[in-house]
Amino acid sequence: MQEVRFLGRGGQGAVIAAELLAQAAFLDGKIPQSFPFFGVERRGAPVTAYARVSSEPIEVRGSIATPDAVVVLDRGLLRFAGATDGLRENGWVLVNAPASVQAFAAPAGIRLASVDAARIAVDHHLGSPTLPIVNTAILGALARVTGIVSLDALERAIAAAVPRKPQENRAAARAGFEEVRPLTDPRSRLPLPPPRPRRELPLPEGPLALRSSEEILTASWRSLRPQIDLSRCTRCNFCWKYCPDVAITLDAEGYPKLEEEHCKGCGICAEVCPPKTIAMVAEA
Ligand code: SF4
Ligand code: SF4
Repeated sequence: MQEVRFLGRGGQGAVIAAELLAQAAFLDGKIPQSFPFFGVERRGAPVTAYARVSSEPIEVRGSIATPDAVVVLDRGLLRFAGATDGLRENGWVLVNAPASVQAFAAPAGIRLASVDAARIAVDHHLGSPTLPIVNTAILGALARVTGIVSLDALERAIAAAVPRKPQENRAAARAGFEEVRPLTDPRSRLPLPPPRPRRELPLPEGPLALRSSEEILTASWRSLRPQIDLSRCTRCNFCWKYCPDVAITLDAEGYPKLEEEHCKGCGICAEVCPPKTIAMVAEA
């Protein structure tokens, strides 16, 4: 049996990735299982999903503690403890990362691969430049490095189960399959950027839906941050109106100001800004 843990953020397609992997495995004649674990069901929130693939009936039902592969849809999630916990000896860590980012400092005995799934998704018009839907591209890469499913079965699963842009998603899977870069040479590994200094931002206990956004500090979710070019700002206030996390306030002259601790980096403000004066940039 092979077990896979998907780590992503709400909107990237981690849950669908696990489901598509399971459907592709079924088409390959194997026995699959997939299920998600949601922390907070909001765009930008960390999401974990799991898939099991076996040639025998699967009797376990619990979450996966010792995966054979960890698929990281948002590289920023590697900053947090536990991302690769329990990964088996010789297991794979597959990271959505651009070509300039080769790898992260991984423990010995772990195999690494990266694929620029975000760029592939944008090239195939999947999602938006600020929130590309990377799941099919990274599944193609997973199929290549692990052989857990065939590319043919993955494409057929996408054709059957993805209602929007099935051709583009199949093409993204093929591109991920072709472009994935295994990084088995430890000399090619670059250290992960150090954690950002910030004070501890615990989420309140209890159902988040009952809490005011002002109580919920989501900066630790962020891998991108909005950069506002005020010289081109028309003070339309759209960013302030549409930000779901009270992360934008207005100064005395009506210009937007970012409230760092509340911004989860979802990119909605950049999407709604009429003159496109907000750019989502990587955290330093
Ligand atoms: S400021 Fe922009 S990126 Fe940050 S939470 Fe609000 S809408 Fe999302
Ligand atoms: S949406 Fe853009 S133009 Fe409008 S206030 Fe915000 S930054 Fe300025």
